Amino acid sequence: MPKRTLLAILAHPDDESYGTGGTLARYAAEGVDVHVAIATDGAAGSIAEGWEGDRARLAEARALELAEACRILGVTLHNLGYRDSGYINDPANQHPAAFIQADKREAVGRVVRLIRELRPQVVITHDETGGYFHPDHIQCYVVTMAAVTAAADPQQYAEIGHAPFQIERLYCTVFSNRWVKFISFLMRLRGQDPTQVGRNKDIDLTRLGVPPGRVHAVINYRRYWDVKQQASAAHSSQGGGTGFSRLLPVWLFKLFMANETYMRVHPPVPDGFRERDLFAGLKPHG
Ligand SMILES: [Zn+2]
Repeated sequence: MPKRTLLAILAHPDDESYGTGGTLARYAAEGVDVHVAIATDGAAGSIAEGWEGDRARLAEARALELAEACRILGVTLHNLGYRDSGYINDPANQHPAAFIQADKREAVGRVVRLIRELRPQVVITHDETGGYFHPDHIQCYVVTMAAVTAAADPQQYAEIGHAPFQIERLYCTVFSNRWVKFISFLMRLRGQDPTQVGRNKDIDLTRLGVPPGRVHAVINYRRYWDVKQQASAAHSSQGGGTGFSRLLPVWLFKLFMANETYMRVHPPVPDGFRERDLFAGLKPHG
């Protein structure tokens, strides 16, 4: 049976649903073998209200939420097993088990093993800014970039024992700064400050996003809108993904915004290039 395989390598439990849930649900429903590798346990010190004193219990709860979200999306989950590093300046950054403190060769090896075992045509990860400069997201990008190259190189990680494998496409999750400007405008209308968002008010929305020409792939998930919402809702310790959706009525979102957007990193394409299917033109593996 010819097979199409997609692997998303992401930092935290919930990135698969909030960020890429529509894309993953759509490809899973269309018969693609979809895998998600999550790097950390998502239990940094400052993150969830009500769990401050009990990191271990939060990690456990988030593991269950993640497993449920993946079940809803119809994807296979792989945990890379690192500790959440937290956002910039979080004391969790310094923990020896934090993802950003991981031995690079070892972390890359974990992803090389997955790539060689699963043999995905398409890989998705965070972009080099981590979307909002989250250190774990940036680390995920760095590790994935290195792993994609190493997985194809017979000289590297020979001890892993699987045949080298060259993926065909690598995409990074991005959003257009035009969209960011629009959301910032809506927030200002409501008397909210877009330069201080997030639980710790340490994210400046107006600095985020890429120029529209660098959005190379637009994946519409209107038919899988409810699947993404249900998977997001499974992450109840994180609020269940209701944030921006309160700014506009749901039908408006569904009609105009049921898109997830990506920048194509490999093979590179010029700015202004636009595709609507991450597998366009790729042959299934025999
Ligand atoms: Zn994340």
